[in-house]
Amino acid sequence: MLNRRNFLGSATTLPFAAASSPAAEAAMNRSYDVKAEINPELKAHGAIFERKIHRIGDNVYSAVGWSGCNTIAVVGSDGIIIVDTGTDLQSAQEVATELRKMTDKPARAIIYTCFHLDHIGGVKGFASDADVKQGRVAIIAHETFLANVIRQGRTIAPALGARTAYNFGNFLEGADIEGMNNGTGPLPRRNVKASFIAPTMTFAKTLDITIAGIAMHLVHVPSEAADEIAVFLPESRTLLSSEVIPAQHFPALHPLRGEAYRDPVAWYRSIDLLRGFKAAAMVPSHGLPVIGEDKVEEVLRNYRDAIQFVHDQTVRHMNKALVPDELAETIRLPPHLADYKPWLQEFFGSVSQSVRAIYQGYLGWFEGDPIALAPLPRVERARREIDAMGGRERVLAVAQTAFDDADLQWSAELATRLIRADRSDTAARQLKAAAFRRLGYAQINATWRNWYLSAARELEGFDFVAYARNNVAAFVSPDLIMALPAKAFLETLTTRLKAEDTLEVTMTVGFSFPDVGEAYYFRLRRGVAEVDENLAGATDLTLTLDKAVLDRIQLGQLTMRNAIESGLVKASQGAAPDAFRFFGYFEAPLATPIQLVTR
Ligand SMILES: [Zn+2]
Repeated sequence: MLNRRNFLGSATTLPFAAASSPAAEAAMNRSYDVKAEINPELKAHGAIFERKIHRIGDNVYSAVGWSGCNTIAVVGSDGIIIVDTGTDLQSAQEVATELRKMTDKPARAIIYTCFHLDHIGGVKGFASDADVKQGRVAIIAHETFLANVIRQGRTIAPALGARTAYNFGNFLEGADIEGMNNGTGPLPRRNVKASFIAPTMTFAKTLDITIAGIAMHLVHVPSEAADEIAVFLPESRTLLSSEVIPAQHFPALHPLRGEAYRDPVAWYRSIDLLRGFKAAAMVPSHGLPVIGEDKVEEVLRNYRDAIQFVHDQTVRHMNKALVPDELAETIRLPPHLADYKPWLQEFFGSVSQSVRAIYQGYLGWFEGDPIALAPLPRVERARREIDAMGGRERVLAVAQTAFDDADLQWSAELATRLIRADRSDTAARQLKAAAFRRLGYAQINATWRNWYLSAARELEGFDFVAYARNNVAAFVSPDLIMALPAKAFLETLTTRLKAEDTLEVTMTVGFSFPDVGEAYYFRLRRGVAEVDENLAGATDLTLTLDKAVLDRIQLGQLTMRNAIESGLVKASQGAAPDAFRFFGYFEAPLATPIQLVTR
């Protein structure tokens, strides 16, 4: 069996399981040729994301198609307000160039409507650090924005980064991505850089402010993100609806890449709040603007009804003890909502994934049957199931027949058991990959398609190591690391503690970052590490380093060992050995991307 950590290989170097019979031999040699194509409705949906600056009224422009997220510009008397910056610097610079054809007025404010990367990464295309520091440009966001950025970009970044790459098809190539869109925007660009500048102005519920002569009413509207804000321009009655109404697709009430629970009740109530503005035009952060008060109200009403329908019917049936699989089979949008095209088509979110999340949001993972309390270990269970079904060859044969009968889910489920029992079972891997390709190509939902096809690549032996070497990770920008307090580093460090090695260790380490005036006690106590701002009591070791040095270490430009040896990190009483021992208690960041399917 392969060692998971060290597993790498391409389709040609994939280790083959030994063939034990003529039938197995035939299975090994079987090749599956599944033709790359795009579901016709999903393909046609891509027209929405054609690169274009849409003008709304006299002074609002929405740049659609340059990046995953639109950038909206509101032109005022002596400057412009930028709402959302796009994912990356290159896209933002291109949009800024387009906008300069309309106006040469400088940016006065940048509004992040939520913490998602596609809204924040392009900020330096519109303003520099100096513009912000010297007060020429205000950066506005919700008060919980930075905490969300830290969770996304530091705390759970390894897991979320891998899942986000699958979600948006970052590993896909050639015919698999040609002519594709991501349901809510164009495909992400490869090898781009993200930038970051922290907010300079935040608020809790509402903010009324006039910038560059433009009166704006900002309002907190939890929905696709917990820190979502929308902007209403009372003079032109234009609503910048952020991701409360994200785009022309059914909402991601739950995103497959993973996020904290998105409460559907808060979401449709946020839409009702927006309905109260009676806007004459609505400009969402993804997709196309909507013009006309009646049309805006129609979209908002149908959208909130779809969300409330899914929520209420899920709860109704959950209260009759239905579990997520049954709920997903049961809950369907009624025809008048399902046919409200393109707004409620499942190009990005889907009803079934939402239903499962709502169950989890209310009741958690346990469905009520204690069979789930102490299940057999995954590998052990797979082996016993294969045995009970008559052995590997029998299971493989049934799986292949199912594939030939287009019974793809069953085929992939059987192959999954074989792969769990033996990750090097090439025949099972290729079969499951082929089933996933057929499932993926048929999908109207772009994220489901991306997950099926990315999983197929992993099963086919995609070379993740080469991928990591050749692709700049835009997930965490150097700007972000430099903008965060040193405390964020220490709080992330606690989640890398090798608890099993420290169950007998008690140690207090003082951290001092003189250039930013931050200081903490880091208390290691038998498998738990606590970050303490109360600097009282003795320390076993004190480490003094500039935040600038910490940034270089986090950016991979310097190792902690080199920093200690060269004196950039000063250990108290020359206790460098203690410092080495201390940092040895923490897991190094993963060098290669996580693999999700061959587990
Ligand atoms: Zn977005």
